[in-house]
Amino acid sequence: MLQNIRGTKDIFAPEIDKWHFLEQKIDKVTALFGYTELRSPIFEKTEVFSRSIGDNTDIVNKEMYTFIDKGGESVTLRPEMTAALVRSVIQNNLVYDLSSLRLWYLGPFFRYERPQKGRLRQFHQIGAECISSPYPESDAEVIMLSNYLINEFGIEDFSLEINSLGNEISRENYKKALTEYLNKHQDDLSFDSRNRLISNPLRVLDSKDQKDIVITENAPNILEYLDKESRSHFDTVLSILENAGIGYNLQPKLVRGLDYYSHTVFEFKSSALGAQDAFGGGGRYNSLFEQLGGKSTPAVGFAMGVERLILILDSLNKFPKLGGNCDIYIVSSGESTTDYCNEIALKLRNKNYKVLTDLQRRSFKAQMREADKLKAKFCILVGEDELTANTVTIKNLSIGEQVVIKFDLLDTIDF
Ligand code: AMP
Repeated sequence: MLQNIRGTKDIFAPEIDKWHFLEQKIDKVTALFGYTELRSPIFEKTEVFSRSIGDNTDIVNKEMYTFIDKGGESVTLRPEMTAALVRSVIQNNLVYDLSSLRLWYLGPFFRYERPQKGRLRQFHQIGAECISSPYPESDAEVIMLSNYLINEFGIEDFSLEINSLGNEISRENYKKALTEYLNKHQDDLSFDSRNRLISNPLRVLDSKDQKDIVITENAPNILEYLDKESRSHFDTVLSILENAGIGYNLQPKLVRGLDYYSHTVFEFKSSALGAQDAFGGGGRYNSLFEQLGGKSTPAVGFAMGVERLILILDSLNKFPKLGGNCDIYIVSSGESTTDYCNEIALKLRNKNYKVLTDLQRRSFKAQMREADKLKAKFCILVGEDELTANTVTIKNLSIGEQVVIKFDLLDTIDF
């Protein structure tokens, strides 16, 4: 039997109802904050990602689905949205269009990772990007939007971890101090971290290796290396969050892996998830536009994993009872009533009822069982008598009562 690719999933009823539930909330909340949707292709020229995410990151080194297409061009299934979105904003000149500076997206992303709970090779992200404000108000807005969304989903128990990587000068000073410290402990670092020490020392702070965790516990604290400008930017973000009633944990070891971040970085975590406890994150990226050939434009954004949100909501039992697919089931006595049944179905669908008919030429009894199974509220019974008299028999399945009415009166009934 042909199988799907490892780390990918087919999504269908009733699971798909959970996706629709989240999608409705996303539509609502993004609109409340004035964000408009941007849809871009799921693949891009490889350069879009290799030039932006950073050569020494796991994504670019090990996880990209990259291939040469039939025209000889190197293309990549997008592993994340920010770089692709920035490419699109530059190309379409959106920076000059005020209404397009608050953008959101939802879609599939691809990373060649080892599949496990909460980690797939094709996964989905909802995210938003606020473009062209250098001010801390926009960092705070993006966090307030994600916080609103998480609340709207019904997740109450989560933590917001936040840090600042400062501007370039602060970060370079910090890198020097960190490298000096880590050099002293080089022999005790994991193999990966020894390599990162040369290529990208900040990433050592990200390591999940127990030995590295112990060593980085006493590493210099990045927040002590912020210059005046960086400190003031971060303090304002924190104070806006506090005044908006949004709690946070300062996490000086949070660096978020990718090369393009500066100033504020943050992550959302839930204890309901286990090992992969982050379900979202983001940060400011002031140099990415230039890196991708645009004019210098500050920006900040976040992304959340939809599959992880669903895991959290499932484990907390937070999905509301999601609606059935059938309000009214039309039970027919045979082929001679097909056209009449379709006429009834159309009339009721035009009144916004979900109406199903039998397609398997089942017996009357089997159709009634099907209606029960589908949790239909009503059945409409159609036999030769109804056809001749131009009537329908309506049966209320919860109380078992039935009435006969004229076809023309169907419009007047509330089911
Ligand atoms: P990142 O861009 O790596 O920070 O990812 C943002 C969010 O996307 C994470 O917090 C996860 O919720 C989700 N995510 C990232 N990678 C995966 C994956 N391989 N499988 C499922 N969800 C993922």
